[in-house]
Amino acid sequence: MSLAIPLAVKEDGATISAKDAQKNQGLFKCFGCGENLTLRKGEQRQHHFAHQKNSECKGGESIEHKYAKYLISHYLNKWNFIDEITGKNVLFDCHQAIEELFINPFRLDVGVLNEQNNCVAAIEVFHTHRVDDEKFEELTKKQIKVIEVKAFVIIDCFEKDTLTLWFVDQEEKKKHDEKERIEKEEQVKKQEEETKALNLQYQDYNEYIERLNEESMKEKWNTEKEIQANKLAICKMNRIKQQEENALIQKEKTSKMIMQAKEVQLKKLQKKEQKSTNHSASQRLLSFSKESKLQLVDNPNFERQKQMIKQMNDWQNKNS
Ligand SMILES: [Zn+2]
Repeated sequence: MSLAIPLAVKEDGATISAKDAQKNQGLFKCFGCGENLTLRKGEQRQHHFAHQKNSECKGGESIEHKYAKYLISHYLNKWNFIDEITGKNVLFDCHQAIEELFINPFRLDVGVLNEQNNCVAAIEVFHTHRVDDEKFEELTKKQIKVIEVKAFVIIDCFEKDTLTLWFVDQEEKKKHDEKERIEKEEQVKKQEEETKALNLQYQDYNEYIERLNEESMKEKWNTEKEIQANKLAICKMNRIKQQEENALIQKEKTSKMIMQAKEVQLKKLQKKEQKSTNHSASQRLLSFSKESKLQLVDNPNFERQKQMIKQMNDWQNKNS
């Protein structure tokens, strides 16, 4: 299938699009290979030029580029150039559009001249590479508005009859980027300040908690000391109680033993007395019983004491 070419060179060297060309305008030649082209203005397809059936010409990027430039320069007053950042239509004083306009040291794809023949805008048609910074800055210095648009976008818009081109105005972009940078910086600064304030607050809070902890530790320590002291006091009291109890038990034991010993002695004496009526013995016993009576008054075993005292009294009465 032959390649559909939108643009051709006329015999007089001028460029013409298939849309604008008429069959009676003579021969049309290919930009790429120089072969003769046939103009096709059918109902079904877009108007175009075509190579002969056996041609090996591929057309290519250069034709697309040329076609885009042609569309811009031939219909310049019909295009709207809208800045993507501001959304504004960029207007400039357009009197004439010239392809490959030379503004020392640059060649512009399409240069736009005002009535005084001053260049006011440069429309750069690109595929992948944008205009380099140096060219952009130099042209901007000369007050030439630089507009960059992709070739296929221009062709696509033209074929769809929507002659509005959205482009990124580098000047506006720079302003926008700068504004964004400042905003970002301010935001970072604000965040830093907020973080700082938060950190200070956090520090205060930590100090407060530390203080609380210290106080609570002190209190805990005091309570612990109190508990220890109480424990110690209880221990001491228990020991004293135990000692007292032990002493009491010991005292009881001792009294019991004394009692037993005295009882034994008493029994012996009773036996002796029964056998003998010896007066000295009875005297001795009498004195002993008096002594015993006195001692026994202290004895806690009162019933027993009473019994013994009674026994002794009975014995004395019997012998007096
Ligand atoms: Zn060709």
